[in-house]
Amino acid sequence: MKNHQIAVLAGDGIGPEITEQALKVLRFVERRNEVSFELIPVAFGAGAWFETGRSFPDASREACDQADAILKGPVGLGVEASKKIPPDEQPERGGILPMRRRYDTFANFRPARLPAELAHFSPLKPEIIGDGIDFIIIRELVGGLYFGKKETGVNQRGLRYAREHLEYDEFQIERIARVGFETARKRRKKLHSVHKSNVLKSSVLWSGVVGEVGRDFPDVEVVEVLVDAAATYLCLDPGQFDVMVMENLFGDILSDQAGGILGSLGLMPSACIGPGKAYYEPSHGSAPDIAGRNIANPYSMIGSVAMMLEMSFGMKEEADNVWRAMQSVFAGGYSTPDLSKPGSGVTMVGTDEFGDRVIAALQAAGQK
Ligand code: NAD
Ligand code: MN
Repeated sequence: MKNHQIAVLAGDGIGPEITEQALKVLRFVERRNEVSFELIPVAFGAGAWFETGRSFPDASREACDQADAILKGPVGLGVEASKKIPPDEQPERGGILPMRRRYDTFANFRPARLPAELAHFSPLKPEIIGDGIDFIIIRELVGGLYFGKKETGVNQRGLRYAREHLEYDEFQIERIARVGFETARKRRKKLHSVHKSNVLKSSVLWSGVVGEVGRDFPDVEVVEVLVDAAATYLCLDPGQFDVMVMENLFGDILSDQAGGILGSLGLMPSACIGPGKAYYEPSHGSAPDIAGRNIANPYSMIGSVAMMLEMSFGMKEEADNVWRAMQSVFAGGYSTPDLSKPGSGVTMVGTDEFGDRVIAALQAAGQK
């Protein structure tokens, strides 16, 4: 029997609530397959900082080093509460960025999917959604502005300033471009390369390197699009996109927009893949505005588990079962409040109940 060790970082805010649902799914998969998951709880984020003075304590690093895969809930506090933590130890700078750097998780997969029958979740008109939304954003995750040298001080005019560097070299661009092309090759063979080459030199390099890598993928059509225009097209005609590849900052912003066009960030899972380690997390944050109320949508976290099953453990069939189970819960007329508008005829369920319904759907599918 295969045994996989999974470091579980429940995180802050809605993190523990949605993580609990994801763990239900892992336990279900374990019962039905010749596999066991050893789930190791790991302190990470603002909670860890209050306990230990570190967002990513040494013991947590060691547990993540040991694990076969990492399942991470969102971390962070609201803007006011965050001020209690020194800037360098706040969960992004003190936890997430060091984790991404440590495991070199350069390739971030953020799928955005909404079948036509769930078009009512989206703020877009049904005629724009057509036969559904289905694209994936591939975001470079360990370079660019988020990882460049940072500097603050007082300049010669006596004014406070902050300076951060945006740097990419051709190796960084090439490796994420290859991931983009390989993903496109398995799908509709169309790759949108998103950049801002009319202004940024880093984007000129990006565009050039993507073009060079493209010679190895003659079967994939490359479409270059400026990031600001891409933001518009995502709203006006998301169906034109299949695989989109972009640098770190652009990917952060456009993937939240993708959540918006689906109808909720709660529909955005993700996988962060490095050469020797992967971690899985929702694309969204800890949603302090709804934390502790059993109303968060756990789809993003359960979907992250599905991505883990497929990408880390080679269990594609089980992953597909999980996606289908979640769709069938929605198709049955149930959803968490983020997706149910009053009068839409949808039955609202809590975080817990959504998780239970997914398990019931998995069970029912298995009995057919
Ligand atoms: P957010 O993504 O937490 O929330 C934005 C909006 O989306 C909120 O209205 C929230 O209620 C809603 N939302 C998000 N996830 C949802 C879910 N699963 N179900 C239902 N609704 C959901 O963004 P924010 O409020 O700007 O940030 C809150 C905290 O999260 C900050 O501390 C931020 O730094 C942190 N953050 C962490 C990560 C991460 O852990 N990877 C990513 C982004 C933001
Ligand atoms: Mn983000």
